[in-house]
Amino acid sequence: MVTIVSSKAFMMMHKPWYEHPENPERMAMVINAVEKVGYDVQWEEYVQDQDDGLKIAEKIHVKGYIDYLKRMQNKAPCELDPDTYFVEDTLDLSLFALKLSYEASMRARRSNDIYLVLLRPPGHHAGRAGKAMSAPTQGFCILNNAAAATISFLEQGCRRIVVLDIDIHCGNGTEEIFYGRNDVLNIDIHRDPAYFYPFTCFPEQIGKSHGEGYVINLLLPARAGDDIFLELIEVVETIVTSYSPEALVVSLGLDGYFGDGLSDTRLTGVSYYTVGSLIKRLRLPMVILLEGGYSRGLEYGVNAFLDGISGHKAGFKRKTVTPILLLKEYLGIARDIIRRIGWLEK
Ligand SMILES: [Zn+2]
Repeated sequence: MVTIVSSKAFMMMHKPWYEHPENPERMAMVINAVEKVGYDVQWEEYVQDQDDGLKIAEKIHVKGYIDYLKRMQNKAPCELDPDTYFVEDTLDLSLFALKLSYEASMRARRSNDIYLVLLRPPGHHAGRAGKAMSAPTQGFCILNNAAAATISFLEQGCRRIVVLDIDIHCGNGTEEIFYGRNDVLNIDIHRDPAYFYPFTCFPEQIGKSHGEGYVINLLLPARAGDDIFLELIEVVETIVTSYSPEALVVSLGLDGYFGDGLSDTRLTGVSYYTVGSLIKRLRLPMVILLEGGYSRGLEYGVNAFLDGISGHKAGFKRKTVTPILLLKEYLGIARDIIRRIGWLEK
């Protein structure tokens, strides 16, 4: 079973004053898509109260960054950087999203169940002080929702947590926040950042100190199809099983879907269905948070993913293949880094 949580506030607030892919329309799209196939959405009432959210934000972000956001609230509407707009109610909505993410982990742990929070703005590019790991911008993100869900699980006594990020852009903010820890294993499948935003999170970046080996960056090449994605998910399953986590946080980006808009990758329903099925098999308390996804992914990607979680025999087949030379090269890169970290022998 999966409980889907959202709020009408996500469909109205944090609205750009110019054309921008991260806008309230996205939320209407994803909600319509899940309701159309019969899922119920549990609506959370929006309360404008920054205090609870700020207490959670202080566990994740540095004080200077939170103070900066408060100052920006007085300057809004403005841009934090060329990707990231900031309007009068952006901080309010971001703190509310953070609180929902944090509380979802409490509910998931209590019920040993799966919570999917459909929220915005996305969070996985937001590091401790905003921009993370040399990325040029915050990539539409203000506060890190995945970190809030993870910290909540840690506070409840979970000793090993996996963060799985399948957004087509790497979750550089989340990686940075937990970079030195071995109680959070961060696995991120994303388009090769050599020529793709956020231009960081390469396979050689594996964490540091106690956290060395607990960041795993698995890359997809240009025009990646279902074939390579499914092979990487098999690798992910082996690693996750070996780590034996007590909870899971998923950064669900749907922007790798064929034709979604920001990526040249060509993932189709079978890729998202397979991640959903893996999640179902793991049988862990789990929080899934919406990250990117801008058009087709918000409809077809999310429903394939939910079919996988629900165990529906949806009959998805591999539709797209990766150019053969790129397939071999990138599977080789993944194998090399996994061997170097030694996960498969752990
Ligand atoms: Zn993305």
